[in-house]
Amino acid sequence: MRDLPEPLPHVQGLHAYTPGLQPTESGWVKLNTNECPYPPSPRVAEAIRRELGEDGASLRLYPDPTSSALRAAIAAHHGLKPENVCVGNGSDDLLNLLVRTYCDPDAKGGYTVPGYSLYPVLLAMQRSATESIEFGRDMRLPVDRIAESDARLFLLTSPNAPTGVGFPNVELEGILKAASGLVVADEAYAPFADQDAVPLLARHRNLAVLRTFSKSHALAGLRVGYLLADPEVIALVDRFRDSYNVNRLSQAAALAALGDEAYYADVVARVRVTRDAAYRRLVDGRGWFTYPSQTNFLFTEPRNAAGKTGPDIARAALEYLQAKRVLVRHFASHVLTAPFLRITVGTPAEMAVLDQALDSWQKE
Ligand code: PMP
Repeated sequence: MRDLPEPLPHVQGLHAYTPGLQPTESGWVKLNTNECPYPPSPRVAEAIRRELGEDGASLRLYPDPTSSALRAAIAAHHGLKPENVCVGNGSDDLLNLLVRTYCDPDAKGGYTVPGYSLYPVLLAMQRSATESIEFGRDMRLPVDRIAESDARLFLLTSPNAPTGVGFPNVELEGILKAASGLVVADEAYAPFADQDAVPLLARHRNLAVLRTFSKSHALAGLRVGYLLADPEVIALVDRFRDSYNVNRLSQAAALAALGDEAYYADVVARVRVTRDAAYRRLVDGRGWFTYPSQTNFLFTEPRNAAGKTGPDIARAALEYLQAKRVLVRHFASHVLTAPFLRITVGTPAEMAVLDQALDSWQKE
């Protein structure tokens, strides 16, 4: 047998993105990957059944390569034109395409830390030059430092993950007026926020807004995201896109979901009510420092019975919860995130299970 070829140096050193645990058995209270605690609109399953037909014959055929009906519906939903929209196999697909389109060893990709930890992985795959800008503990947007960055592409999780902190549009505009590159507002969680950056698209060609059906629209399992941007940006990204990047069932499902605005307004409102109640319990009830959240998760600093906080305390809480079959997320690799846990907002019943588990952890 012949030997395998030597891996490329940047591939050899690459650390893949670590997704949150997706247990295959049931019985978990799953608050670790920011999925929606409610099912999608009933119109989604209907649309999938319609697309499949009696015998699934439609599956013989490739999907619409440009997701054209979905692009048009997304454009109409946001008051934009279909040329302003690209649809991806999850917003991760579009992040990958943006990095491939704009970044290389001489064209920097910028991002904030903490932020969505996929960004540095994608930039490393592209052998891109990078610039990371650190938040302080207050998590205020470092407007001037981002504005001064010479990154060709700047990826900004807005509202931020994993902290949940939202950024006012005036601050985003401060960045957009000065930035030399394309600024991507990764708005995976914006449907849960008081404000979003879509209205800024009309005034700033250098803004792109990234959205997903995975969180607010309860379709994480189907993988659909979209990018809103200037038609020139969309045309460039389209050159790199896999021709059939969004499958037939996902296109039909996302289209049906988009058509049921009342259903999703209710889902988002319920998640926000549960979130705000859970925030008050953490802050007033337990006295735990917790960032105010504009998302469907809470970033909180567990305090043990002795009043101690820190990375070891957070890990102990994580492990205790896991033993009680409650999954949350711990980001141990950065000083600003290591003392915290990120807890997805579940149903009120799931949050009650979490509360009980935290009560008993604090007593031990
Ligand atoms: N951006 C952020 C900030 C996220 O948290 C996630 C989900 N992990 C994504 C993008 C990707 O979402 P998806 O690929 O499911 O659309």
